Amino acid sequence: MNVYDSARMTDVLAPLGYEPTEDQTQADMVVLNTCHIREKASEKVFSELGRLREQQEENREQGRDLIIAVAGCVAQAEGQVIMDRSPWVDIVLGPQTYHRLPEMVARAERAAAQDDRRYTTNERRLRGFGILDTEFPAEPKFDHLPMPTAQGPSAFLSVQEGCDKFCTFCVVPYTRGAEYSRPASDILAEARKLVSDGARELTLLGQNVNAYHGNAAQGTGTWGLGRLIRALADINGLDRIRYTTSHPRDLDDELITAHADIPQLMPFLHLPVQSGSDKILRAMNRGHTGAEYRAKVDRLRTAVPDLVLSSDFIVGFPHESDADFADTMALVRDVGFIQAYSFKYSPRPGTPASAMESQVPEPVKSERLAILQEELMRQQNAFNQSCIGKTMAVLLDRPGRQPGQLVGRSPFMQPVHVPAEAGTVGDIVHARITSCSATSMAAIPVGKTGHDPLTTDRTCPV
Ligand code: SAH
Ligand code: SF4
Repeated sequence: MNVYDSARMTDVLAPLGYEPTEDQTQADMVVLNTCHIREKASEKVFSELGRLREQQEENREQGRDLIIAVAGCVAQAEGQVIMDRSPWVDIVLGPQTYHRLPEMVARAERAAAQDDRRYTTNERRLRGFGILDTEFPAEPKFDHLPMPTAQGPSAFLSVQEGCDKFCTFCVVPYTRGAEYSRPASDILAEARKLVSDGARELTLLGQNVNAYHGNAAQGTGTWGLGRLIRALADINGLDRIRYTTSHPRDLDDELITAHADIPQLMPFLHLPVQSGSDKILRAMNRGHTGAEYRAKVDRLRTAVPDLVLSSDFIVGFPHESDADFADTMALVRDVGFIQAYSFKYSPRPGTPASAMESQVPEPVKSERLAILQEELMRQQNAFNQSCIGKTMAVLLDRPGRQPGQLVGRSPFMQPVHVPAEAGTVGDIVHARITSCSATSMAAIPVGKTGHDPLTTDRTCPV
């Protein structure tokens, strides 16, 4: 979501003459787009701001300015604290107001023209330099954003934002705000534009993407995600559809049937479960049990036998006992995941779980995380190994590290390195997997390539 937001901020800043640079020392402005989901991510912001202050001073010595903006969820949650602790920051904006960034930058440029940097940082703060906009505007930002441009064969498309579920560990409902679904007609128009720019794969984004219930594109009422995907699949040239992140509670029959019926919908689903213990799932307010999760996975696999799963896990949630953790391990072994993200529980300010008694000691969290990750890695490796010798459709989307090599994604999301000409980025090649590591695979092309009807054939490896 932050990658998508950063791209949209780039879009809104283009008319002001700003363009992205790979070289930070050349920048006239730096926008830090931040994540508040765990403490580690938030802490990084303040250390990075210290470094940026030095660069701002160096720039000044060379007679140019450096505008510093902090965007994203840390900005939303800690806006005033950032302004107070780092008064050299010019702009603090939340995830719902970045369509207003051009206005804010223009104000910051005016302040710079008044030579606001001649004041000490403290004086600057007292003089009211610095812009803070962490509102949740009534009108969604999407109504004010320009149409995006696809930068390659694989593009993100935000369809839903925010969350009303209030899991007891999570800051998202506070930082991203209430759940909102974009109207289906806007999404279809944006998808057609991205495909006409050359995108062949779209990943639909949302904090709770399968809670999608946007206004229908035809007739009255709303569409769920399954219905939306059906309409997207009719777009000529759109060969692959993915979506993330899903909540197990919102995985309905319409979506399961869409997986069975729509070949463009890739057979890989990220479905976070967090824990295998019913006691912990209840305390997390996840709204489902371990058995209900398993039952949904069974239904998915009945509908789509080659579907593979990834997930998110939290270990060391308050009150998590050895037996609760054993339930998580049992679920992992029974369900099987080809990839996963796993985290130690991180108490987040203002969330109910941070105030719960019986916080789990750090060493216990570390020990459980190591055990869990070992099993998850074993499963990931086993899946990758099982792919060796199989042929898969790979969408080539970027240059590899070596010349004469491109990297793409398998239908199951692994990066696949393939010998190929630079000009073939955007092709879907059928490639036989020859070797693998824990996180990627190597393959040689076999059979047809390019824009042909075979391209939606995902060629099941296992
Ligand atoms: N909406 C998704 C998850 C979004 S947050 C869902 O409901 O599943 C992404 C992941 O960050 C979560 O799945 C969770 O595993 C992790 N996470 C969120 N808050 C956390 C916290 N306080 N401590 C540790 N991990 C956390
Ligand atoms: Fe956070 Fe996901 Fe729970 Fe919403 S459903 S509160 S985003 S973990």
